[in-house]
Amino acid sequence: MLALTIMSKTIQAVRGMKDILPAQMPYWHHLEDTIRHILESYAYQEIRPPLVEKTELFARSIGEVTDIVEKEMYTFADRNGDSLTLRPEGTASCVRAGIENGLFQKQIHRLWYKGPMFRHERPQKGRYRQFYQIGAEVYGVTTPDIDAEIIAMTARFWQQLGLKNIVLQLNSLGSIEARKTYREALVNYLSQHSLDEDSQRRLQSNPLRILDSKNPDMQTVIQGAPVLLDYLDEVSQAHFETLKSLLAALDIDYKINPRLVRGLDYYNRTVFEWMTTELGSQGTVCAGGRYDGLVEQIGGRATPAIGFAMGIERLIALLEQYQKTPSVQNPHIYITMVGDNTISYGLRISEFLRNALPQLRLEMNCGGGSFKSQFKRADKSGAQFAMILGEDEMNKQQVGLKFLRQTEQTQTKEQLNLSWDELVNYLSEFQY
Ligand code: ATP
Ligand code: MG
Repeated sequence: MLALTIMSKTIQAVRGMKDILPAQMPYWHHLEDTIRHILESYAYQEIRPPLVEKTELFARSIGEVTDIVEKEMYTFADRNGDSLTLRPEGTASCVRAGIENGLFQKQIHRLWYKGPMFRHERPQKGRYRQFYQIGAEVYGVTTPDIDAEIIAMTARFWQQLGLKNIVLQLNSLGSIEARKTYREALVNYLSQHSLDEDSQRRLQSNPLRILDSKNPDMQTVIQGAPVLLDYLDEVSQAHFETLKSLLAALDIDYKINPRLVRGLDYYNRTVFEWMTTELGSQGTVCAGGRYDGLVEQIGGRATPAIGFAMGIERLIALLEQYQKTPSVQNPHIYITMVGDNTISYGLRISEFLRNALPQLRLEMNCGGGSFKSQFKRADKSGAQFAMILGEDEMNKQQVGLKFLRQTEQTQTKEQLNLSWDELVNYLSEFQY
């Protein structure tokens, strides 16, 4: 009995992994199209690395002592025993792909990617185990002009998408050496305070991570900690000052957040996050920064780099708040057929129409049914017109066209009977 119940239980999606349904697609397409267009206007080129990489790549780049590598990765043994991981983020793959394919040898490279990422986190609104990111990476520029350009581009995303109240937080992590000095001061401070279990463990391995703790009990200790900006080396200091003045010249507002350290180890100098207050606690919609040491660390020739990634689900949630009614792509015409041989007649007309008017969206009634049930389906499809094909129409080599929606153009009109050519003429003048 038990076995039977288990067998008949319907299979559900994996926890934290969501279906994106047709009704949401207009938002996704709008967002993806808008962002892609802007990326292209800044000369970025798309790259599509695989979804699976060797585990070592992420361990070495993101850092062994980060949330992602310690507890969030989907890692499994391949059949030959290799340890593989579903990518938790895109930067490591871009770096690996760039080195492997010799992309960084030629001047400056601006790359972008989009696709699913996988992290075994506690699912909640705005936090999933499979989620989508669009990200961009630039290789080969040390100067802060690119930091400013990349931030200006992200600002343009929000502006073009009509998203308001997204604010920029900015910090500099300085050089690796400056971070060492700071690290000592931080450890010294933190050792004198009571820490949660995670932070105690990190105190030796990766104390900066403690500043990124989401534990509310840790916030007072974190607030009182020494500030990295006070320890910046001169070059990083100058880099940061120039970036700030470039942002001011571009009229981009920002807030310096001296505790912004980011959840991944590879960052240095500039780090930034775009945050909204409109999504509750999962408010970061875009995050990035410089990672000048990573390419060399992964085995490539030393190449400065900067990049960011955006959480698409969070941006879609914002879009949905702003635009209440998405326009689903309904068919323009639903084709109904009743009578002997009308199916082949209908198929021929629909192929003819697709040739003549490639923009037209046609939905054939497949699977038969009475005229009444086909007409019901036509209505449900959201189409503007039902095409009616009976034996009568077929014998006259005509089509019947009936209006399903009242618009200014259709209000007064009865069903039309048209020849094939008249149909094309009529439809090509119709405003959809
Ligand atoms: P968070 O602090 O929210 O965990 P993170 O620092 O881990 O973010 P990044 O690795 O920088 O995030 O990823 C960039 C963006 O991707 C985040 O700002 C967020 O918008 C999105 N993101 C990260 N993890 C998730 C997730 N589990 N579900 C949905 N979106 C996510
Ligand atoms: Mg995280």
